[in-house]
Amino acid sequence: MSSLRLIVFGRQGAGKGTQAVRLADHYGIPHISTGDMLRAAAASGSDFGRQVKEIMDSGSLVSDEVMEGVVAERLAQPDAAAGFLLDGYPRTPGQAEYLQTLLAPDGVQAAINLEVPEDVVVDRITGRRVCSSCGATYALGRDESAVSGLCANCGGEVLQRPDDTEDAVRKRLALYAESTEPLLNWFRERDLLVDVDGVGDPDDIAAALVARIDERRSGAPGAGS
Ligand SMILES: [Zn+2]
Repeated sequence: MSSLRLIVFGRQGAGKGTQAVRLADHYGIPHISTGDMLRAAAASGSDFGRQVKEIMDSGSLVSDEVMEGVVAERLAQPDAAAGFLLDGYPRTPGQAEYLQTLLAPDGVQAAINLEVPEDVVVDRITGRRVCSSCGATYALGRDESAVSGLCANCGGEVLQRPDDTEDAVRKRLALYAESTEPLLNWFRERDLLVDVDGVGDPDDIAAALVARIDERRSGAPGAGS
């Protein structure tokens, strides 16, 4: 079986993290997130790693060039030889171009876009409650602790995070849509975007994702530009 190179997109609250872990487990490929990748590079102790650490410690944004080095280094690791699931990269069409060049001639096989309507996402996030003592998370409509305000684990106070209010959430979603739309279009134009409905039972969504990916792997050569 050829190596499986995937990217996953999804706005906050779409369940991207959950599905990324499931997909990586299912296919036995590493789930590579931008944050983990940067931390690993910084901890590597190489000259390049020290540069990355300096940038991160200073709180500056990591430039495209540095990020390209981090991605190239990570994807060259032995555990990524059979494939990988990238999460958080690329973020721009320019980075997507870079990735396809790095992975030439095959490139990525699919960029998964987990789609959840905005109102559903807003409900999920604004219904989230967090214990101020132990950090346990609860959901309105599912957990008694979210309603009572008392943590079932530790008895601590259960609250809504200030950035989980509807106003804050809608602002974040609008920013995400604005910055991600050109990127999704980039993959769509190359017939690489796989839109998947992210509403429903996580098991069903995971099964649908696997079916769509397997379908792409088994057929349709010549997809893309
Ligand atoms: Zn607690």
